[in-house]
Amino acid sequence: MDYRMDKSIEIAHAKFMGSWEKNEQLPEISKPEFAFIGRSNVGKSSLINMLCNRKGLAKTSGQPGKTQSINLFDIESALIFCDLPGYGYAKVSKKLREKFSRMISHYLKNRANLYCLFILIDLRIPMQQIDLDFIDWCGENQIPFCLIGTKSDALKGTKLDEKIVEMEQQLSATWAELPPIFVSSSTNGAGKQAILNYIFNN
Ligand code: GDP
Repeated sequence: MDYRMDKSIEIAHAKFMGSWEKNEQLPEISKPEFAFIGRSNVGKSSLINMLCNRKGLAKTSGQPGKTQSINLFDIESALIFCDLPGYGYAKVSKKLREKFSRMISHYLKNRANLYCLFILIDLRIPMQQIDLDFIDWCGENQIPFCLIGTKSDALKGTKLDEKIVEMEQQLSATWAELPPIFVSSSTNGAGKQAILNYIFNN
């Protein structure tokens, strides 16, 4: 792995470590962990695969609500990526939703090596109340987080800039300080270097 700024950062070794359905069973790890979360279909698996240069590493969920576990990936034997279950499915039962949120909140509040949570937001649609609620919850609980606007390829011309300004305005209604906001596309690779640079050089 070469971290120099004049070269692009590429992950050459990403390994699926396992899938855990209970927080208590998650292995304790001292390496910095970067977690990814968002509503179902936000493009989380595609993003993880793009960052890791591995098509089938994170499994695309396909069916909303299917991923009920926490998946860990070893990245270059240097750090960990954590694929968290999505939040806010309309189609799963209330009981399942509660299980998700307990699992997610327990992980976020207790994971000692959590370095940063990437909250993914689908740029093609308006930011949903569940996204704003989740962001507020993270802020209130002092979870270190960044936002990643996904599927940027779908917004042409000035639409992308307008969308980011709109997101910033929505967040500014509650928060004095804005989190870092990245923009990504798994289709054309946009944002890959900026996100990897944040992960490896921060
Ligand atoms: P997940 O459920 O959050 O893991 O989302 P997936 O990665 O499975 O993607 C959900 C859907 O969005 C799939 O149909 C993908 O092909 C599509 N998708 C994912 N990333 C992008 C992107 O960057 N651009 C576009 N246009 N579509 C995307």
